[in-house]
Amino acid sequence: MTSFLSGLTGSFSLSAAENPTVAIMEAGYRANNLDVRYINCDVAPEKLADAVAGAIAMGWLGFNCSLPHKEAILAYLDVLAPSAQLIGAVNTVVIEDGRLTGENTDGKGFVESLTTVGDPQGANTVIFGAGGAARAIAIELALAGAHTITIVNRSPERGEKLADHVDSSTDAACSFAPWTPGYSIPEGSSLVINATSLGFYPNHEDTLDVDVSSFLPGMIVADVVANPPMTRWLRAAESAGCIPLTGIGMLVNQARVNAKLWTGETLDAEVMHRALTEALGIS
Ligand code: NDP
Repeated sequence: MTSFLSGLTGSFSLSAAENPTVAIMEAGYRANNLDVRYINCDVAPEKLADAVAGAIAMGWLGFNCSLPHKEAILAYLDVLAPSAQLIGAVNTVVIEDGRLTGENTDGKGFVESLTTVGDPQGANTVIFGAGGAARAIAIELALAGAHTITIVNRSPERGEKLADHVDSSTDAACSFAPWTPGYSIPEGSSLVINATSLGFYPNHEDTLDVDVSSFLPGMIVADVVANPPMTRWLRAAESAGCIPLTGIGMLVNQARVNAKLWTGETLDAEVMHRALTEALGIS
């Protein structure tokens, strides 16, 4: 018998209007013939408890939570996945029999995207930034076998805190380096990541204060910024013979990881990539 009851997933954030994830998810669900919807919701901090109760009451499969809920959601969970516990933030909640499990798929999406051009195992990594994205990426790279991680951040306190945390809680050797003017990427680095918000539209002419002559051919140079995909940072790296990795792959792959957690299905990366670039009007 035909069922008119769709599976429900979605996102709680404020503000939700500029979040393109709905376009990626619904295109992925459609391409896999899944009767699942993704509802993008504006949820104010004081309404988070009601939104969570509503999702449980309506039998949602789960939801994403973006800013400002990534830490506040911890109070509502029954189970916290190990990497989310290390990251200290949750962007994906899975609901099973009314029980909530918190995951963090930001860094997992980055690592998935990285595997299309290289291997996290044994990587000597430099990460610029120490905010939520940097934290998720540093933890997941460490869990995926990165050898060394150097955190470079504008505010030294935040950078040192992240480096100490990753170093003491994973097998990777993680240290902090001050962001000196014209910072030179250490020789032997194989993976260099912009995990700051520098270069994000409309400030797309902003870029990192780095000595571009320290980019060496063959280095993988990545950006978390997805719009525009080829940031000034990535264009400079590509000109120097590095392998650029855009933030689009991270966004698409975290959506695929989320869908797998909610539905058990593996969605089509190419379809979702196309949906995202069309939604953002970029190529
Ligand atoms: P946070 O606010 O938590 O952290 C921002 C980071 O950027 C901090 O390290 C901050 O340094 C640094 N920063 C900001 N402005 C400057 C500047 N002018 N000069 C130097 N450093 C600066 O943000 P998130 O970590 O949550 O997000 C960072 C970026 O990642 C955003 O652009 C976001 O859109 C993107 N992102 C992309 C995802 C994807 O799937 N592609 C997923 C998640 C995030 P300081 O500590 O000194 O303030």
